[in-house]
Amino acid sequence: MSRWPLRQVAFVGLGLIGSSLARLLRERGLAERITASSRSARTLATARQLGLIDIGYADPADAVRGADLVILAMPVNATEAVMRAIKPALSAQTVVTDVGSTKGNVVAAAQAVWGRVPTTFVPGHPIAGSEQSGVLAGRANLFAGHKVILTPLPDTDPAALQLVETLWRQAEADVLTMSVEKHDAVLARTSHLPHLLAFSLVDTLARESHNLDIFRYAAGGFRDFTRIAASDPLMWHDIFLANREAVLQALDGFEAGTDALRQAITSGDSETLLGIFTRARAAREHFTHMLAGTAYAKSMTAEKELIYTVQPGGRMTGRVRVPGDKSISHRSIMLGSLADGITDVTGFLEGEDALATLQAFRDMGVVIEGPERGRVRIHGVGLNGLKAPPGPLYVGNSGTSMRLLSGILAAQAFDTVMTGDASLSKRPMERIAKPLRLMGAEIQTTGERGTPPVSVHGSAVRAKGGLKGITYDMPVASAQVKSGVLLAGLWADGDTTVTEPAPTRDHTERMLKGFGYDVQVSGPTVTIRGGGRLTATAIDVPADISSAAFFLVAGSIAPNSELVLEHVGINPTRVGVINILKAMGGDLEVFNEREVGGEPVADIRVRSAQLKGIRIPQDQVPLAIDEFPSLFIAAACAEGTTVLTGAEELRVKESDRIQVMADGLVTLGIKAEPTEDGIVIEGGKLGGGEIISHGDHRIAMSFAMAGLRASAPIVIRDCANVATSFPDFLGLARRCGLAISAGERESV
Ligand code: NAP
Repeated sequence: MSRWPLRQVAFVGLGLIGSSLARLLRERGLAERITASSRSARTLATARQLGLIDIGYADPADAVRGADLVILAMPVNATEAVMRAIKPALSAQTVVTDVGSTKGNVVAAAQAVWGRVPTTFVPGHPIAGSEQSGVLAGRANLFAGHKVILTPLPDTDPAALQLVETLWRQAEADVLTMSVEKHDAVLARTSHLPHLLAFSLVDTLARESHNLDIFRYAAGGFRDFTRIAASDPLMWHDIFLANREAVLQALDGFEAGTDALRQAITSGDSETLLGIFTRARAAREHFTHMLAGTAYAKSMTAEKELIYTVQPGGRMTGRVRVPGDKSISHRSIMLGSLADGITDVTGFLEGEDALATLQAFRDMGVVIEGPERGRVRIHGVGLNGLKAPPGPLYVGNSGTSMRLLSGILAAQAFDTVMTGDASLSKRPMERIAKPLRLMGAEIQTTGERGTPPVSVHGSAVRAKGGLKGITYDMPVASAQVKSGVLLAGLWADGDTTVTEPAPTRDHTERMLKGFGYDVQVSGPTVTIRGGGRLTATAIDVPADISSAAFFLVAGSIAPNSELVLEHVGINPTRVGVINILKAMGGDLEVFNEREVGGEPVADIRVRSAQLKGIRIPQDQVPLAIDEFPSLFIAAACAEGTTVLTGAEELRVKESDRIQVMADGLVTLGIKAEPTEDGIVIEGGKLGGGEIISHGDHRIAMSFAMAGLRASAPIVIRDCANVATSFPDFLGLARRCGLAISAGERESV
């Protein structure tokens, strides 16, 4: 096995790609000797002058003689001739690789020359480059951060593969392997087709009579779209001929797409046009995140860790309207999609979780315009209008999406798989799967803990006559489970009745009524009868009390504070945080109460107060379940001891919120003891320190507010998920008086 630095590396072809690799080898000292052959003597002379090669040869056989590694970096159509020429000069140990943009024809060339592809040949393709070509265009860092696809064959020598992988890793490329066929099919769509379209568009316009004017007035869109038409014509000529079949297939698919657009434009079919455009816009972003496996709308710099730093002290003042309620935003998309007619939503929370729900319905064929500054227009398809999505539904970090969608998908005539990011993939999904199975649903969760991915086999259930209504006593209070079952009940035969052991959020019931669906509520029991219809409506989403909670706590604990939170949703199932803070001695005033779309709304004034520790009343626990992280901060700033019990639910949220909060409080010097179903916190003086949020948005925002009473800076790690529920948290918090800043760190 060859060791680095290699004794000799040989290139055939020293253009953009070859010379970039030669530069890299030189810069990093990866080869003792570099030889090369090219078409022209001039290229070799330039390469010598630049110090890229030790010696150049006219005949490629001379260049590769004695080499440990040969890199073929000339146009793909020359491959067979070059292989024939070098064959006699290669030793049995020489590893050969190439950089060609197509792989099928390169492998076919090797087969034609050797009879069977040598085990020491590792076909490769760096997905990096530019429109420039030639030996002068190369750069040593051309491949850094880009993908390189290797397409080894079943009998490729693992040592040869490893050598080539190491080479690309040295170039700081991200190495992937796939089959030759897959490579050619994927590249035909993602690279070859776009180049073909760019060449074609520029050529078509250039042949039109007023071409000069057209190009003179060309807008940015034209320039962006046609940048790649400046690429090397000969290289692309070779690529299209070399990857003929896959390119033609991709072109067929594209033509079908433009035909559909043509028809829609001809017949003035704006629904179809909007559908295509909104799906395309969203898909572009969606795929990026899906591939990265990140939370739904995380920024492109996902490898960097987002860190908050809070300077100690400060007071909170002003009037704030926090973003729209997450639960209501989710449900507005779901019910709006399933309704007949157009639903207009305002105040929609443009956070990652609700956007994941929105994308899921787009994937199932619903036309959704926006979101544009909180406005969304949903073209409902009716209860039986959803279509099978083209692939798995990716819901990022959103447990609400996954659990509520389970109920909806269980009743559809098609099968679906739901996936999520790393954090969601650890959360239990059996608690919703179980009752749905009692209704006849076929649902599979993964692993012993019943986590995502979740597969829902709707078609099998339909074949057996569909879901049937059940009477279900929920073992654990959970709004998500209740909602999932009730939503499935829309399609079930007969009545679906759910009884909860403790009150949970009733947004689903309220909104179903808002969409004209009959829902019977009697104490803890809700009943819905399948077979009705939802009628589109307008929804003005109230500000989220869960987001307001951070400010209610902040206004209470920071000295000399007075804050007004506007248009906050005060649904009776959500007001635990207000009741608990009041019980702790908080100075909160709820005023200007009104009702908006079935949901009660009010403004809340909060002033600083000396809080005292309490035993949190059991009946308030489900009403404040998401607000406990911030309430724990209030408890840390209170006089005396606060005891929470009956909140085991907190252990299976975005993080184990009991343990993670306890760890953070202890870091800040507070005595906090987790128990099985709660926590005991003794109020005291808060110091500074570094908090690990475990990617949990509510943990991050809670500790941010703790800075108001800390004696030293608090650094909070892993904060990117704050955008899941609270876009512009930093901006709002700063405007009110919190000294918070954000920075990035390479994640480890
Ligand atoms: P380039 O800059 O045009 O360089 C091509 C090199 O190959 C030149 O050194 C040329 O020699 C040499 N060459 C041409 N015909 C030859 C022949 N018959 N025998 C020996 N050498 C010959 O092209 P490139 O961008 O580096 O592309 C090289 C390969 O990389 C191609 O297979 C291409 O598909 C692949 N690739 C390109 C990109 C990209 O964006 N450019 C990206 C990924 C992969 P002279 O200089 O002496 O004329």
